[in-house]
Amino acid sequence: MSAPAESPLAPADYLEIEDRLGAHNYKPLDVILTRGEGVWVWDVEGKRYLDCLSAYSAVNQGHCHPRIVAALTEQAGRLTLTSRAFRNDQLALFYRDVCRITRSHKVLPMNSGAEAVETAIKTARKWGYQVKGVPAGRAEIVVCANNFHGRTIAIVGFSTDPAARDGFGPFAPGFKIVPFGDADALEEAITPDTVAFLVEPIQGEAGVVIPPKGYLGRVREICNRHDVLLILDEIQTGLGRTGRLLAEEHEGIEADLTLIGKALSGGVYPVSAVLSNSEVLGVLKPGEHGSTFGGNPLACAVARAALTVLIEEDMIGNARRMGAHFLSALSRLRHPSIREVRGVGLMLAIELHPSFEARPLAEALKERGLLCKETHAHTLRIAPPLVITREQVDWAMERIEAAFAALPQA
Ligand SMILES: *Cc1c(COP(=O)(O)O)cnc(C)c1O
Repeated sequence: MSAPAESPLAPADYLEIEDRLGAHNYKPLDVILTRGEGVWVWDVEGKRYLDCLSAYSAVNQGHCHPRIVAALTEQAGRLTLTSRAFRNDQLALFYRDVCRITRSHKVLPMNSGAEAVETAIKTARKWGYQVKGVPAGRAEIVVCANNFHGRTIAIVGFSTDPAARDGFGPFAPGFKIVPFGDADALEEAITPDTVAFLVEPIQGEAGVVIPPKGYLGRVREICNRHDVLLILDEIQTGLGRTGRLLAEEHEGIEADLTLIGKALSGGVYPVSAVLSNSEVLGVLKPGEHGSTFGGNPLACAVARAALTVLIEEDMIGNARRMGAHFLSALSRLRHPSIREVRGVGLMLAIELHPSFEARPLAEALKERGLLCKETHAHTLRIAPPLVITREQVDWAMERIEAAFAALPQA
């Protein structure tokens, strides 16, 4: 299938250099990847793995999708960056496509997911002062416990994860935390100064936590009643991962601000965006917000291709079908360590009982050719590219069964 890659260093040298020269803010599995195609990746020794993380759902379209790579290389040879001081001929096309596909009225392009979240926070506050009439400096935003919205100071300031937050203060005021999945708690937290509720439709980093049915519908109704913006962070759940274009569709609601990123470029280039309507994004005037790289022609060309293949190649339908198949197979797993198996579309997880760690399971799966990552200590997330076939799901299941069979029983 693939010739072993020419590798300029021995595997141990990659680890040694990274360890010596890099900041240690990650603890990766010791697999050194050099090539990817669809659901597969290869390490420097030529061993093949099925990617069950998809770069945290950035590679929904599969590794190195030829149409996305073609858009990248074609645009890279023509024009990459103008800054927004000038216009470029790709931005309008990106706006048109993203608005048509997501049925949005306005878009603000950024680069990373965290920047999209920051943009939404700034926009919601400004909307609160200018439109809702909140007194200056008083705007409040409600967020959820166990949220993950990125790594900037403002964002980690309202994280409840000690690892994300401790030692990084002081933090920005103006955030209130309520339990995820509890609509009554949201309503109780709202005051006349509340401008927005920021929430993930399914909490990904928290371990694929799915809220009770009807939660988002009630949240939508509460936000309407109190004139509070609903900001849905769909950076991980969006763009097909849950078997819908956006996870909000499962409950038939629409957010006031929707944040997308990750798969917006198919994992090829950092592209994120805030989607909204004219009333909300319209509060931003020239000079009030921006980004040197946001909306650059390379990003726009890549994002258009990434959205096109997602739709034209029916990856969203495939996520729905393969997700159902994968979940039912996972549900048949029997092992004393398994506490719960859950998922929506191809956003799946196996939660272990507290006395079992997920990391050794991830290591055991790696040995068998499946790359998964634990989220926190006891949950294994399974989120392959949306192009996965039934045969590949079955292949993955054989490895998962074998890895569990080899685990200690207690
Ligand atoms: C990954 C992620 C982010 C942050 O995106 P970055 O590109 O890493 O800044 C924000 N929200 C959610 C839900 C995410 O999964």
